[in-house]
Amino acid sequence: MKLTDKISQSKSTLFSIEILPPLKGKSIQSIYDSIDPLMEFNPAFVDVTYHREEYVYKKRDGGYLEKVSIRKRPGTVGICAAIMNKYHVDAVPHIICGGFTREETENALIDLQFLGIDNVLALRGDSIKTESHFVPEPGGHNYALDLVKQVGAMNNGIYLQDDMKDVSPTNFCVGIAGYPEKHFEAPNLYSDLKWLKAKVDAGASYIVTQMFFDNKKFIDFVKLCKENDINIPIIPGIKVITQKKQLTILPKIFHIDVPVDLYKEVEHCKDDKQVKEVGVKWAINQCKELIKQKVPCVHFYTMGTSETTRRVAAEVF
Ligand code: FAD
Repeated sequence: MKLTDKISQSKSTLFSIEILPPLKGKSIQSIYDSIDPLMEFNPAFVDVTYHREEYVYKKRDGGYLEKVSIRKRPGTVGICAAIMNKYHVDAVPHIICGGFTREETENALIDLQFLGIDNVLALRGDSIKTESHFVPEPGGHNYALDLVKQVGAMNNGIYLQDDMKDVSPTNFCVGIAGYPEKHFEAPNLYSDLKWLKAKVDAGASYIVTQMFFDNKKFIDFVKLCKENDINIPIIPGIKVITQKKQLTILPKIFHIDVPVDLYKEVEHCKDDKQVKEVGVKWAINQCKELIKQKVPCVHFYTMGTSETTRRVAAEVF
């Protein structure tokens, strides 16, 4: 079912989660173990992230270094199919520009359509670690906007090969990313919102935000979106802090701020057990306030563990 239909049919705030495929070589059981404890909260959808290749240098005989391409977390599409089959919940694969030609994207979308997947989250993806900035695949997309346009074209029955006859259009509901604290490459929020609006005009139907710890940033972002004529559902992304080291890691990776009050509380914790308690309490307060604001859904970045999400969900859903 399309997420936008689910949202419009629901009278209350929905619950959803994002999971990561397991590391290559690990069993899918770890995915089930992280979803099982959350099923009682009736997730509206489960997002499955996409992880492109990375390059590593391996030392070979004779001392020379070989550049090797590896994908640490393959399996996004297979996991989506497995989740839908096991839990009968909508699984939403993340699709990215990085590493894909337009043709590969088209073929991937055909696979998703055949699997009965109705929603995709269309993203650009980050640069690979060995590149200083995002480099598209030759023949691939530069921006998520172009990916949204490609899905939109397929939804209108327009495939890359223009001489195809009697084609079946796809029917994807397309989600996109939004950044209450601005995407790190954008010169300012004004420019970031301009491109966000372009993605909406190209056919995106809902927005999932980057994690944030200060609700005011989200509320201001939603207001700015409305002022810029962005009127699709905006789903806040929530992450529960569980470790002291996340005070520096999360801002570094996700380009977000940790509010001073949260920072001070975590800083004073004796160990990560206490940090977890602080994180759960903070997230509960965030969620209660967001639900009061009538957000369409609260989306949890579980990052492979369900325990803290479960504790928060138990308090607020
Ligand atoms: P875009 O919308 O393409 O924006 C990228 C930057 O370019 C922004 O600064 C924007 O302002 C600017 N811009 C946009 N369009 C144009 C244009 N036409 N011309 C000029 N400038 C433009 N990454 C993964 O690799 N896998 C995942 O599974 C994944 N899941 C995510 C889920 C969520 C909810 C979020 C918020 C992020 C996720 N990411 C994931 C990270 C994401 O890929 C990165 O943040 C990436 O750097 C930007 O992606 P985007 O889709 O927002 O890009």
